[in-house]
Amino acid sequence: MATTHTYDAVIVGAGGAGLRAALEASQHVRTAVISKLYPTRSHTGAAQGGMCAALANVEEDTWEWHAFDTVKGSDFLADQDSVDVMCREAIDAVIDLEHWGMPFNRTPDGRVDQRRFGGHTRAHGEAPVMRACYAADRTGHMILQTLYQQCVKQGVEFYNEFYLLDMIVSGGRVAGLVAYELATGELHVFRCKTALLATGGFGRMFRVTSNAHALTGDGPAVALRRGLPLEDMEFFQFHPTGLYGIGILLSEAARGEGGVLRNATGERFMERYAPSIKDLAPRDMVSRAIYFEVKEGRGAGPKKDYVLLDVTHLGKELIEEKLPDITEFARIYLGVEPLREGVPVVPTAHYAMGGIPTDNDARVVSDETNTVFPGLYAAGECACVSVHGGNRLGTNSLLDIIVFGRRGGLSMVEDARRLDFAPMPEEPERDAKAILARLAEGPEPHAVPEIRAELQHSMDENASVFRTDELLREQENALGLLRERYAERAGVQDRSRAFNTDLMEAFELGCLLDLAETLVAAARARTESRGGHYRGDFPKRNDKRWLKHSLAWKSGDAVRLGYKPVRLGRYKPVERKY
Ligand SMILES: Cc1cc2nc3c(=O)[nH]c(=O)nc-3n(C[C@H](O)[C@H](O)[C@H](O)COP(=O)(O)OP(=O)(O)OC[C@H]3O[C@@H](n4cnc5c(N)ncnc54)[C@H](O)[C@@H]3O)c2cc1C
Repeated sequence: MATTHTYDAVIVGAGGAGLRAALEASQHVRTAVISKLYPTRSHTGAAQGGMCAALANVEEDTWEWHAFDTVKGSDFLADQDSVDVMCREAIDAVIDLEHWGMPFNRTPDGRVDQRRFGGHTRAHGEAPVMRACYAADRTGHMILQTLYQQCVKQGVEFYNEFYLLDMIVSGGRVAGLVAYELATGELHVFRCKTALLATGGFGRMFRVTSNAHALTGDGPAVALRRGLPLEDMEFFQFHPTGLYGIGILLSEAARGEGGVLRNATGERFMERYAPSIKDLAPRDMVSRAIYFEVKEGRGAGPKKDYVLLDVTHLGKELIEEKLPDITEFARIYLGVEPLREGVPVVPTAHYAMGGIPTDNDARVVSDETNTVFPGLYAAGECACVSVHGGNRLGTNSLLDIIVFGRRGGLSMVEDARRLDFAPMPEEPERDAKAILARLAEGPEPHAVPEIRAELQHSMDENASVFRTDELLREQENALGLLRERYAERAGVQDRSRAFNTDLMEAFELGCLLDLAETLVAAARARTESRGGHYRGDFPKRNDKRWLKHSLAWKSGDAVRLGYKPVRLGRYKPVERKY
């Protein structure tokens, strides 16, 4: 028998989105947060560069310019009413954090300082603008600490090192969640009126990635298995500057502060691809430019397979004050001294634009006509509102998690007051138990790391910066075989109940496989190039046919696709030029 807990609101995930929602909900209704990591280990803490808002503290700026940049950066796939909400509320989101004690860098007159970031411009593309608020290159770390302190102060109840395994659905709505306690191996049922998923990204389906090991998309996978669709999964962002061979991120702040990219000949090649804003073009464009430089033989290094991030001209003082962590990464992991030489970089799998579809109040929607699925909410990187469309601008994610985390918390309060508990089925933990039992008994105890390595390698090869029908078909076949082996043979070595991380890694791999299948199916169907989705066989954007969001459902072992229109607004789709 599983232990049962009862709350009005349960939040899964203690990153920026989950904690921001908890701060809102716990003021009014009984709230719990369950997190597989200790809260301050969440990936939000790894965010470096900044969080943007048109504060206009350093130079003229307006939230409408921010909205324009976000829509243009998204390659016109973002829903413009959602973008307006985010950019308008950005200003209060930063001020709230400041009031809670967030140690932002300051201007000489004591205001929150701001710096440049890719794709953020003044007056609809005229020139780069200083819009990113930051705390050195540890902005996410500071946000996470600030929010966690506030949650502790407010007495939010945390269940740390608890893994969400399943969602209980009864009568077409959420009745509760099932979680696994790592310390004991015990299953817990959380009965609740409202549940918010804030489980973060899933970059771990790729090998070269900036994402932490825990980013395996458990929330979206659980929703998918319970019949909900995932939106725009084909749009995955590859950040241009991952450390060569590893993928650890060097923040765009390096280019925001004046760093430039060079190829083997020392040429600042972005001048050819984006003549007006050069190295500060959106990430999809810069990553593609790197891909083509390497492909056309202008890559640096013995294998000519990377480019160089050059910050040598910025000077020791600026680097030590504003980019201390990332320069240290280059020294530690590659043995390169950024004060004197270029740092080898390649595109790295960074951010999931797609995820669980929601409306502007973080309520999960379940079909092409945006029907609300009662009692379920999603916010942060695991959700798709959609404010990022085909490509997210840097610093817009820390913003997204705060704005929509807050909105999610407010919706939970509103609905928890109105809704009753949904009836609980008998033995609600039955399906979760069955998943664990199958994994515990699988005949191949070494299969999990092997399948994961093959998944990551093949996704890098076939479904990353450059895609074609042939590559994606190959990937579909590869995933089919991996899925079969996982389902029939994958097991675990560790049979103990306490701290069985082996078993949880096996569960997480299943989530990655499910999500990779939706990504590849949606990418294969989309015969155009837009944002982070680039098809060598269809290199142009095709608005007539594809100005729409994809929805992917799991249907047995296959993926079923549907589509819904993009909500346009002030900005009509035009060709993106920078
Ligand atoms: C290296 C790096 C640098 C970045 N820099 C920036 C930046 O400068 N600016 C910017 O805007 N964005 C940046 N981003 C992106 C941004 O940090 C993330 O998109 C954002 O922080 C995600 O927040 P989140 O709250 O959605 O999820 P996360 O912070 O990833 O938190 C996820 C939470 O879910 C929990 N969880 C997951 N699965 C389960 C489960 N099964 N059961 C229970 N709990 C679970 C985890 O324990 C964790 O608490 C960066 C990302 C990376 C990787």
